[in-house]
Amino acid sequence: MQRRVRRKEKFNFGINERKRILKKIFMEKKIKVFAPATVSNVGPGFDIMGFALNQPGDVIEVALSKGKEIRIKKIYGSRNLPYNPSKNIATASIISLLRLRNIKVGLDVVIRKNMGIGSGLGSSAASSVAGVFAVNKLLDLKLSKSELLVHALNGELISSGTLHADNVAPCLFGGFVLIRSYDPLDIIKIDYPENLFCTVIYPHIEIKTSEARRILDKKITRDNAIAQAGNASGLIAGLITNDIDLISRSMKDYIAEPKRKELIPCYDVVRIAALANGAVNCNISGSGPSMFSFSTSLEDARRIASAMKEAALSKGLRSETFISKINSRGPVIIK
Ligand code: ADP
Repeated sequence: MQRRVRRKEKFNFGINERKRILKKIFMEKKIKVFAPATVSNVGPGFDIMGFALNQPGDVIEVALSKGKEIRIKKIYGSRNLPYNPSKNIATASIISLLRLRNIKVGLDVVIRKNMGIGSGLGSSAASSVAGVFAVNKLLDLKLSKSELLVHALNGELISSGTLHADNVAPCLFGGFVLIRSYDPLDIIKIDYPENLFCTVIYPHIEIKTSEARRILDKKITRDNAIAQAGNASGLIAGLITNDIDLISRSMKDYIAEPKRKELIPCYDVVRIAALANGAVNCNISGSGPSMFSFSTSLEDARRIASAMKEAALSKGLRSETFISKINSRGPVIIK
Protein backbone atom coordinates (compact mmCIF):
# COMPACT_ATOMS: atom_id res chain seq x y z
CA MET A 1 0.00 0.00 0.00
CA GLN A 2 2.74 2.33 1.02
CA ARG A 3 4.56 1.48 -2.14
CA ARG A 4 1.56 2.44 -4.25
CA VAL A 5 1.30 5.80 -2.53
CA ARG A 6 4.95 6.47 -3.11
CA ARG A 7 4.68 5.63 -6.77
CA LYS A 8 1.74 7.97 -7.09
CA GLU A 9 3.72 10.73 -5.41
CA LYS A 10 6.54 10.25 -7.83
CA PHE A 11 4.32 11.03 -10.79
CA ASN A 12 2.26 13.64 -9.07
CA PHE A 13 3.45 16.50 -11.26
CA GLY A 14 1.23 19.29 -12.42
CA ILE A 15 0.13 19.14 -16.03
CA ASN A 16 2.53 21.90 -17.07
CA GLU A 17 5.45 20.27 -15.32
CA ARG A 18 4.69 16.98 -17.02
CA LYS A 19 4.50 18.70 -20.38
CA ARG A 20 7.82 20.43 -19.70
CA ILE A 21 9.55 17.16 -18.80
CA LEU A 22 8.12 15.32 -21.77
CA LYS A 23 9.13 18.16 -24.04
CA LYS A 24 12.66 18.08 -22.64
CA ILE A 25 13.01 14.33 -23.10
CA PHE A 26 11.59 14.63 -26.59
CA MET A 27 13.69 17.59 -27.60
CA GLU A 28 16.86 15.94 -26.40
CA LYS A 29 16.34 12.91 -28.53
CA LYS A 30 18.91 13.33 -31.21
CA ILE A 31 21.84 11.52 -32.69
CA LYS A 32 24.99 12.37 -34.64
CA VAL A 33 26.49 9.89 -37.11
CA PHE A 34 29.70 9.82 -39.17
CA ALA A 35 29.65 7.85 -42.44
CA PRO A 36 32.85 7.39 -44.44
CA ALA A 37 33.90 8.30 -47.94
CA THR A 38 34.48 5.34 -50.22
CA VAL A 39 36.64 4.42 -53.18
CA SER A 40 34.66 2.53 -55.81
CA ASN A 41 35.68 0.65 -58.98
CA VAL A 42 39.18 0.03 -57.52
CA GLY A 43 40.69 -0.43 -60.99
CA PRO A 44 39.12 -3.51 -62.59
CA GLY A 45 36.05 -3.60 -60.32
CA PHE A 46 33.91 -1.19 -62.38
CA ASP A 47 30.52 -0.92 -60.61
CA ILE A 48 31.23 -4.04 -58.51
CA MET A 49 33.95 -3.18 -55.96
CA GLY A 50 34.53 -0.55 -53.32
CA PHE A 51 36.12 0.06 -49.97
CA ALA A 52 35.60 2.50 -47.11
CA LEU A 53 38.09 5.13 -45.90
CA ASN A 54 38.64 6.44 -42.38
CA GLN A 55 38.46 10.00 -43.66
CA PRO A 56 36.90 12.14 -45.03
CA GLY A 57 33.22 11.45 -44.31
CA ASP A 58 29.84 13.09 -43.77
CA VAL A 59 28.31 13.91 -40.41
CA ILE A 60 24.54 13.92 -40.07
CA GLU A 61 22.53 14.95 -37.02
CA VAL A 62 18.94 13.79 -36.71
CA ALA A 63 16.61 15.06 -33.98
CA LEU A 64 13.02 14.17 -33.19
CA SER A 65 10.72 17.12 -33.70
CA LYS A 66 7.06 17.90 -33.24
CA GLY A 67 4.77 17.10 -36.12
CA LYS A 68 5.27 14.62 -38.95
CA GLU A 69 7.60 16.46 -41.26
CA ILE A 70 11.15 15.59 -42.29
CA ARG A 71 13.02 18.89 -42.49
CA ILE A 72 16.57 19.79 -43.43
CA LYS A 73 17.49 22.52 -40.96
CA LYS A 74 20.98 23.28 -42.23
CA ILE A 75 23.59 22.03 -44.69
CA TYR A 76 27.20 22.90 -43.88
CA GLY A 77 30.09 22.50 -46.30
CA SER A 78 28.13 22.81 -49.55
CA ARG A 79 26.00 25.57 -51.02
CA ASN A 80 24.46 23.64 -53.88
CA LEU A 81 22.65 20.77 -52.23
CA PRO A 82 18.84 20.65 -52.15
CA TYR A 83 16.94 21.46 -48.95
CA ASN A 84 13.93 19.63 -50.39
CA PRO A 85 13.90 16.42 -48.30
CA SER A 86 12.84 14.22 -51.20
CA LYS A 87 15.69 15.56 -53.38
CA ASN A 88 18.50 15.40 -50.83
CA ILE A 89 19.93 11.90 -50.64
CA ALA A 90 20.36 12.02 -46.84
CA THR A 91 16.64 12.54 -46.28
CA ALA A 92 15.39 10.65 -49.35
CA SER A 93 16.85 7.48 -47.84
CA ILE A 94 15.23 8.26 -44.48
CA ILE A 95 11.86 8.85 -46.17
CA SER A 96 12.17 5.49 -47.97
CA LEU A 97 12.81 3.75 -44.65
CA LEU A 98 9.97 5.47 -42.75
CA ARG A 99 7.48 4.89 -45.58
CA LEU A 100 8.11 1.19 -45.84
CA ARG A 101 7.83 0.75 -42.06
CA ASN A 102 4.82 3.08 -41.97
CA ILE A 103 6.41 5.25 -39.29
CA LYS A 104 5.10 8.79 -39.00
CA VAL A 105 7.50 10.97 -37.11
CA GLY A 106 8.89 14.48 -37.35
CA LEU A 107 12.64 14.78 -37.86
CA ASP A 108 15.04 17.71 -38.10
CA VAL A 109 18.19 16.93 -40.03
CA VAL A 110 21.52 18.78 -40.12
CA ILE A 111 24.03 17.75 -42.79
CA ARG A 112 27.77 18.43 -42.67
CA LYS A 113 29.47 17.70 -45.98
CA ASN A 114 33.17 17.13 -45.55
CA MET A 115 33.97 16.21 -49.12
CA GLY A 116 33.28 17.71 -52.51
CA ILE A 117 30.13 16.87 -54.41
CA GLY A 118 30.99 14.86 -57.50
CA SER A 119 34.46 14.19 -56.10
CA GLY A 120 34.36 10.47 -56.86
CA LEU A 121 34.53 9.68 -53.15
CA GLY A 122 30.96 8.54 -52.69
CA SER A 123 29.73 11.80 -51.25
CA SER A 124 26.07 11.00 -51.87
CA ALA A 125 26.44 7.45 -50.52
CA ALA A 126 27.94 8.79 -47.27
CA SER A 127 24.91 11.05 -46.77
CA SER A 128 22.48 8.31 -47.63
CA VAL A 129 24.06 5.78 -45.29
CA ALA A 130 24.48 8.29 -42.44
CA GLY A 131 20.77 9.17 -42.71
CA VAL A 132 19.35 5.65 -42.45
CA PHE A 133 21.92 4.53 -39.89
CA ALA A 134 21.07 7.51 -37.66
CA VAL A 135 17.31 6.99 -37.86
CA ASN A 136 17.63 3.25 -37.17
CA LYS A 137 19.51 4.05 -33.95
CA LEU A 138 17.45 7.09 -32.96
CA LEU A 139 14.12 5.26 -33.23
CA ASP A 140 15.64 2.00 -32.00
CA LEU A 141 14.27 0.14 -35.03
CA LYS A 142 16.88 -2.63 -34.79
CA LEU A 143 17.08 -3.08 -38.55
CA SER A 144 20.05 -5.03 -39.87
CA LYS A 145 22.57 -3.41 -42.21
CA SER A 146 21.17 -5.50 -45.07
CA GLU A 147 17.73 -4.02 -44.39
CA LEU A 148 19.18 -0.51 -44.24
CA LEU A 149 21.03 -1.07 -47.52
CA VAL A 150 17.79 -1.14 -49.51
CA HIS A 151 16.81 2.31 -48.22
CA ALA A 152 20.26 3.81 -48.67
CA LEU A 153 20.14 2.60 -52.28
CA ASN A 154 16.61 3.97 -52.67
CA GLY A 155 17.88 7.35 -51.49
CA GLU A 156 20.45 7.39 -54.27
CA LEU A 157 17.89 6.18 -56.77
CA ILE A 158 15.25 8.76 -55.81
CA SER A 159 17.57 11.72 -55.94
CA SER A 160 20.00 10.79 -58.70
CA GLY A 161 18.04 8.26 -60.75
CA THR A 162 20.82 5.63 -60.72
CA LEU A 163 21.29 2.49 -58.71
CA HIS A 164 24.86 1.66 -57.84
CA ALA A 165 25.89 -0.12 -54.70
CA ASP A 166 29.66 0.17 -55.03
CA ASN A 167 29.79 3.23 -52.74
CA VAL A 168 26.75 2.59 -50.55
CA ALA A 169 27.67 -1.02 -49.68
CA PRO A 170 31.25 -0.40 -48.48
CA CYS A 171 30.13 2.77 -46.71
CA LEU A 172 27.47 0.85 -44.78
CA PHE A 173 29.25 -2.47 -44.17
CA GLY A 174 32.80 -1.09 -43.95
CA GLY A 175 35.83 -2.92 -45.32
CA PHE A 176 36.35 -4.04 -48.91
CA VAL A 177 33.17 -5.12 -50.67
CA LEU A 178 32.41 -7.05 -53.84
CA ILE A 179 28.95 -6.75 -55.41
CA ARG A 180 28.81 -10.16 -57.04
CA SER A 181 25.35 -9.52 -58.46
CA TYR A 182 22.82 -6.68 -58.59
CA ASP A 183 19.79 -8.86 -59.27
CA PRO A 184 19.48 -10.35 -56.77
CA LEU A 185 21.79 -8.13 -54.73
CA ASP A 186 24.69 -10.26 -53.51
CA ILE A 187 27.27 -8.42 -51.44
CA ILE A 188 30.44 -10.12 -50.28
CA LYS A 189 32.98 -8.75 -47.82
CA ILE A 190 36.54 -9.44 -48.90
CA ASP A 191 39.51 -9.80 -46.54
CA TYR A 192 42.48 -7.55 -47.25
CA PRO A 193 46.08 -7.22 -46.10
CA GLU A 194 46.42 -5.59 -42.70
CA ASN A 195 49.23 -3.30 -43.90
CA LEU A 196 47.38 -1.77 -46.85
CA PHE A 197 47.38 2.05 -46.81
CA CYS A 198 45.40 4.18 -49.20
CA THR A 199 46.40 7.64 -50.41
CA VAL A 200 43.63 9.64 -52.07
CA ILE A 201 44.05 12.85 -54.02
CA TYR A 202 41.04 15.02 -54.78
CA PRO A 203 42.01 17.53 -57.46
CA HIS A 204 39.65 20.47 -57.31
CA ILE A 205 37.66 19.97 -60.48
CA GLU A 206 34.12 18.62 -60.65
CA ILE A 207 33.16 15.71 -62.84
CA LYS A 208 29.48 14.94 -63.15
CA THR A 209 28.82 11.22 -62.70
CA SER A 210 26.30 11.42 -65.55
CA GLU A 211 29.00 12.84 -67.87
CA ALA A 212 31.55 10.23 -66.70
CA ARG A 213 28.98 7.54 -67.61
CA ARG A 214 27.93 9.12 -70.88
CA ILE A 215 31.44 8.95 -72.34
CA LEU A 216 31.75 5.20 -71.77
CA ASP A 217 31.29 2.77 -74.66
CA LYS A 218 27.94 0.95 -74.52
CA LYS A 219 29.60 -2.30 -75.62
CA ILE A 220 32.94 -3.83 -74.76
CA THR A 221 34.99 -6.21 -76.85
CA ARG A 222 35.43 -9.86 -75.91
CA ASP A 223 39.17 -9.30 -75.39
CA ASN A 224 38.50 -6.49 -72.93
CA ALA A 225 35.82 -8.52 -71.11
CA ILE A 226 38.32 -11.36 -70.64
CA ALA A 227 41.12 -9.02 -69.51
CA GLN A 228 38.76 -7.26 -67.07
CA ALA A 229 37.49 -10.53 -65.58
CA GLY A 230 41.07 -11.76 -65.19
CA ASN A 231 42.15 -8.60 -63.37
CA ALA A 232 39.04 -8.40 -61.17
CA SER A 233 39.56 -12.01 -60.09
CA GLY A 234 43.29 -11.37 -59.63
CA LEU A 235 42.61 -8.37 -57.40
CA ILE A 236 40.24 -10.33 -55.16
CA ALA A 237 42.68 -13.27 -54.97
CA GLY A 238 45.55 -10.89 -54.18
CA LEU A 239 43.59 -9.18 -51.41
CA ILE A 240 42.55 -12.45 -49.78
CA THR A 241 46.02 -14.04 -49.96
CA ASN A 242 47.98 -10.87 -49.04
CA ASP A 243 49.78 -11.01 -52.38
CA ILE A 244 50.81 -7.40 -52.99
CA ASP A 245 52.42 -8.19 -56.36
CA LEU A 246 49.22 -9.80 -57.60
CA ILE A 247 47.19 -6.81 -56.36
CA SER A 248 49.59 -4.50 -58.18
CA ARG A 249 49.44 -6.22 -61.56
CA SER A 250 45.67 -6.73 -61.35
CA MET A 251 44.80 -3.05 -60.86
CA LYS A 252 44.11 -2.22 -64.48
CA ASP A 253 40.71 -1.21 -65.81
CA TYR A 254 39.78 -1.88 -69.44
CA ILE A 255 36.28 -0.38 -69.31
CA ALA A 256 36.07 3.02 -67.65
CA GLU A 257 39.54 4.36 -66.91
CA PRO A 258 40.81 4.63 -70.52
CA LYS A 259 37.91 7.03 -71.25
CA ARG A 260 37.60 8.78 -67.92
CA LYS A 261 41.24 9.73 -67.62
CA GLU A 262 40.59 12.23 -70.43
CA LEU A 263 38.39 14.18 -67.98
CA ILE A 264 41.24 14.47 -65.45
CA PRO A 265 44.00 16.79 -66.73
CA CYS A 266 46.49 15.60 -64.07
CA TYR A 267 45.76 11.86 -64.44
CA ASP A 268 49.07 10.82 -66.07
CA VAL A 269 51.39 12.95 -63.93
CA VAL A 270 49.68 11.94 -60.68
CA ARG A 271 49.86 8.27 -61.59
CA ILE A 272 53.52 8.46 -62.58
CA ALA A 273 54.35 10.33 -59.35
CA ALA A 274 52.55 7.73 -57.21
CA LEU A 275 54.25 4.77 -58.88
CA ALA A 276 57.67 6.45 -58.71
CA ASN A 277 57.19 6.81 -54.95
CA GLY A 278 56.39 3.21 -54.17
CA ALA A 279 52.64 2.93 -54.83
CA VAL A 280 51.30 -0.60 -55.33
CA ASN A 281 49.26 0.92 -58.14
CA CYS A 282 47.16 4.01 -58.82
CA ASN A 283 43.68 4.37 -60.33
CA ILE A 284 40.69 6.70 -60.56
CA SER A 285 38.38 6.65 -57.55
CA GLY A 286 34.77 6.17 -58.66
CA SER A 287 34.06 8.40 -61.62
CA GLY A 288 36.85 10.82 -60.61
CA PRO A 289 38.42 13.29 -60.42
CA SER A 290 39.79 11.74 -57.22
CA MET A 291 42.50 9.14 -57.68
CA PHE A 292 43.85 6.68 -55.15
CA SER A 293 46.85 4.47 -54.65
CA PHE A 294 47.63 1.63 -52.30
CA SER A 295 50.93 1.31 -50.47
CA THR A 296 52.21 -0.88 -47.67
CA SER A 297 53.40 1.61 -45.06
CA LEU A 298 52.31 4.93 -43.60
CA GLU A 299 55.65 6.41 -44.61
CA ASP A 300 55.09 5.43 -48.26
CA ALA A 301 51.49 6.66 -48.13
CA ARG A 302 52.67 10.10 -46.91
CA ARG A 303 55.42 10.38 -49.50
CA ILE A 304 52.97 9.38 -52.24
CA ALA A 305 50.49 12.03 -51.02
CA SER A 306 53.07 14.84 -51.37
CA ALA A 307 54.22 13.57 -54.76
CA MET A 308 50.64 13.34 -56.08
CA LYS A 309 49.81 16.83 -54.82
CA GLU A 310 52.89 18.32 -56.42
CA ALA A 311 52.11 16.55 -59.69
CA ALA A 312 48.53 17.93 -59.74
CA LEU A 313 49.88 21.40 -59.04
CA SER A 314 52.26 21.08 -62.00
CA LYS A 315 49.06 20.97 -64.11
CA GLY A 316 47.67 24.01 -62.32
CA LEU A 317 45.30 22.00 -60.10
CA ARG A 318 44.95 22.54 -56.37
CA SER A 319 44.02 19.42 -54.44
CA GLU A 320 43.39 17.77 -51.09
CA THR A 321 44.96 14.48 -50.05
CA PHE A 322 43.76 11.92 -47.51
CA ILE A 323 45.68 9.01 -46.03
CA SER A 324 43.75 6.14 -44.54
CA LYS A 325 43.76 2.45 -43.91
CA ILE A 326 40.68 0.58 -45.13
CA ASN A 327 37.89 1.42 -42.68
CA SER A 328 36.41 -1.82 -41.39
CA ARG A 329 33.57 -0.28 -39.36
CA GLY A 330 31.42 1.83 -41.68
CA PRO A 331 29.13 4.40 -40.01
CA VAL A 332 29.52 5.22 -36.31
CA ILE A 333 27.69 7.28 -33.72
CA ILE A 334 29.76 10.28 -32.59
CA LYS A 335 29.40 12.81 -29.77
P1 ADP B 1 29.73 11.41 -55.51
O1 ADP B 1 30.42 10.33 -56.30
O2 ADP B 1 30.72 12.33 -54.89
O3 ADP B 1 28.68 10.87 -54.59
P2 ADP B 1 27.67 11.91 -57.35
O4 ADP B 1 27.83 12.67 -58.61
O5 ADP B 1 27.43 10.45 -57.40
O6 ADP B 1 28.96 12.29 -56.51
O7 ADP B 1 26.45 12.47 -56.48
C1 ADP B 1 26.25 13.77 -56.29
C2 ADP B 1 24.84 14.13 -56.78
O8 ADP B 1 23.87 13.83 -55.76
C3 ADP B 1 24.77 15.60 -57.05
O9 ADP B 1 23.94 15.82 -58.15
C4 ADP B 1 24.10 16.16 -55.80
O10 ADP B 1 23.38 17.34 -56.05
C5 ADP B 1 23.17 15.03 -55.38
N1 ADP B 1 22.92 15.03 -53.92
C6 ADP B 1 21.73 15.14 -53.32
N2 ADP B 1 21.86 15.11 -51.97
C7 ADP B 1 23.18 14.93 -51.71
C8 ADP B 1 23.92 14.83 -50.51
N3 ADP B 1 23.36 14.89 -49.30
N4 ADP B 1 25.24 14.66 -50.63
C9 ADP B 1 25.83 14.60 -51.85
N5 ADP B 1 25.18 14.71 -53.02
C10 ADP B 1 23.85 14.88 -52.96
